[in-house]
Amino acid sequence: MPSSSGCAMADSRLGRVFLVGGGPGDPGLLTVRGKECLEQADVVIYDRLIDPSLLRLAPPEAECIFAGKESDHRLLDQEEINQILVSRAREGKRVVRLKGGDPFVLGRGGEEAEALAAAGIPFEVVPGVTSAIAVPAYAGIPVTHRDLASAFTVVTGHEDPGKLQTLVDWERLGRSRDTIIILMGLGNLGQIAEQLIRHGRPPTTPVAVIERGTTPAQRTVVGVLADIETRVRLARLRPPAVIVIGEIVRLRERLAWYDRRPLFGKRVLITRTREQASVLAALLAERGAIPIELPTIRTLPPDDWGPCDRAIAALDQYDWIIFTSVNGVRFFFQRLEERGLDVRALKGIRLAAIGPATAGALAAYRLRVDFCPSEYIAEAIVEGMGQFDLRGRRILLPRAREAREVLAEGLAARGALVDEVAVYQTGPASTPEEALALFENGGIDIATFTSSSTVRNLVALLGDRARPLLSSVLVACIGPITARTARDLGLTVQIEAQEHSIPGLVAAIEQALADRQGEQEDGALSRS
Ligand code: SAH
Repeated sequence: MPSSSGCAMADSRLGRVFLVGGGPGDPGLLTVRGKECLEQADVVIYDRLIDPSLLRLAPPEAECIFAGKESDHRLLDQEEINQILVSRAREGKRVVRLKGGDPFVLGRGGEEAEALAAAGIPFEVVPGVTSAIAVPAYAGIPVTHRDLASAFTVVTGHEDPGKLQTLVDWERLGRSRDTIIILMGLGNLGQIAEQLIRHGRPPTTPVAVIERGTTPAQRTVVGVLADIETRVRLARLRPPAVIVIGEIVRLRERLAWYDRRPLFGKRVLITRTREQASVLAALLAERGAIPIELPTIRTLPPDDWGPCDRAIAALDQYDWIIFTSVNGVRFFFQRLEERGLDVRALKGIRLAAIGPATAGALAAYRLRVDFCPSEYIAEAIVEGMGQFDLRGRRILLPRAREAREVLAEGLAARGALVDEVAVYQTGPASTPEEALALFENGGIDIATFTSSSTVRNLVALLGDRARPLLSSVLVACIGPITARTARDLGLTVQIEAQEHSIPGLVAAIEQALADRQGEQEDGALSRS
């Protein structure tokens, strides 16, 4: 490309620095431009408050440097950071300086930009969602409101408000009625409250302090200027925290949403395969839970493809194919393809699926099922297939090697000729050490099981510790078969899905927690 200016040529040799705002904590609050910059980075220099998932957006070969600064304002650190920015850019690299919140809000981004400008390094600024506004928002506090506050001030609480020469005009803030948002102020909260009261804010002015806002660890303490320091001390809040002062804090009572989601902050163990975890993880996260993946099973091709291949070679002889899992669909069609065939080989065969997820997997091949029972277990298929005349009908069951006999036997009892072929098998996926560490470090609140094998495998992984460890968590099962396996293994099952599907499981967990919450409140009422 012809270059029209010397500057553009210098750019291509020089590399470039992107001062990117990483947002306040929730990785979903990174901007689209910020994501693009990370995806193209050669070097990423990041601060302490950056969520690790943002770093995974950078290419694996990118150099990631921890800048380690937070409220630590030692000049040398900043100088070192500036030097790294300049030197890496001079090597021709695309350098992302990833900062918490917005780079230019109390984050010394301005100084970094000055250093780059002075060194003649081209740079771009990618603004971010600042914690000053987003953290109150996630606590249900709008920083302005038509009736309550028409302006807000964001100030640093890092400097001692009692000292004679301060950069923050506490006197003016005390006199005004605007919202005050203080970052880095937890350590000086008592003095800040005192200064504001001394300069005219009523001691009854509402205050909220929000720790680790926009993350599943978010905690909020609400009080008034006169008592907030004591309340925060009793609740043992720690930085990072945003302090919000003003009448708008009262809105939280009605507008809290993030921390009122049904599963907020609950650590939920997902034991199904890594490929299948994501749907459940997403549904849980949407309700505020922290999904923790510990795949207990892994799916593998069967040891012997012989029976499946023979069935595939004779597909035209079958009247029905019944799929009992998404994995069954996945492996069957993979094998069909490997044998040089496609869906046309299924022409004329009727299809059944055990439930909507399996039917969905077939729909991905543009195949519509002729039957799907209303309860998603093998017994229900046998029952429901009763509406068809199965005498002398040939039925193919592509399934896991270790599947239950109920289905094949039940269908055979109705006169069908059933061929069961293994299209996959399951094996263990995690180590006992990994499993034990999860239960010990920070713990698990709820363990989910989506099949009998997930229960068996987790119990096997935990060994002797299985029953004691699982007795202190809520055990949630997708349906009666899985629940029975869990009980047979000595576990207490508190939650069993009415609808035996992933959304059904999540709904059951949500309901169970709501019921428990209700019971606790009833208990509190009857005590008072
Ligand atoms: N540039 C950043 C602020 C940097 S100063 C921004 O725009 O958000 C660091 C301070 O920001 C912390 O001490 C804390 O007061 C606040 N902060 C940042 N992330 C926070 C979070 N997730 N929860 C609460 N406070 C946070």
